[in-house]
Amino acid sequence: MTRRKTVDSRLLEWQNTCKHPIINLTPEKVDKLYQLKLKSKTKNVRPKKGLHISLSNLQKKMEKLFIDDKYDSPKPHYSKIESSSFHTYKDGGYFIDGKGLMKLPDIENAIHRFLWKKYGKGLVYCYGCDPTGKKRHTEWFNVPVLELPSVLMIIDSFCRR
Ligand SMILES: [Zn+2]
Repeated sequence: MTRRKTVDSRLLEWQNTCKHPIINLTPEKVDKLYQLKLKSKTKNVRPKKGLHISLSNLQKKMEKLFIDDKYDSPKPHYSKIESSSFHTYKDGGYFIDGKGLMKLPDIENAIHRFLWKKYGKGLVYCYGCDPTGKKRHTEWFNVPVLELPSVLMIIDSFCRR
């Protein structure tokens, strides 16, 4: 979440200070990751090379970032995740109309607390922001790929309140 003009400008700002590549998990990217993950889970095969080179690279990168679902609890299956599935999503991010009781920082806080409780904190030691590596970013989460759609829905529902 951000108060910057566009989501992209905020992400660029982050990238420049942190010196890490940052991928915006849009509903469309989540959909691709989710479907790839489902496929690799059910058929136990890797996505075909050549077809989705950039996508499978993206997935590989993401798998390093996300913890795997080791447990086999039943998960809802999502057919298609797209921007239009969400009420408060547009132009790469979530927006509030400002008419609700909660102000933006409170909503952001509530989302963080909810996701931290659910997934734990994904602490990032950032050598870009601090070459001694002491600075840690705390606003990240370790989310299994198969739970990304539900995370998008959670954020959407917080922003609708
Ligand atoms: Zn940083």
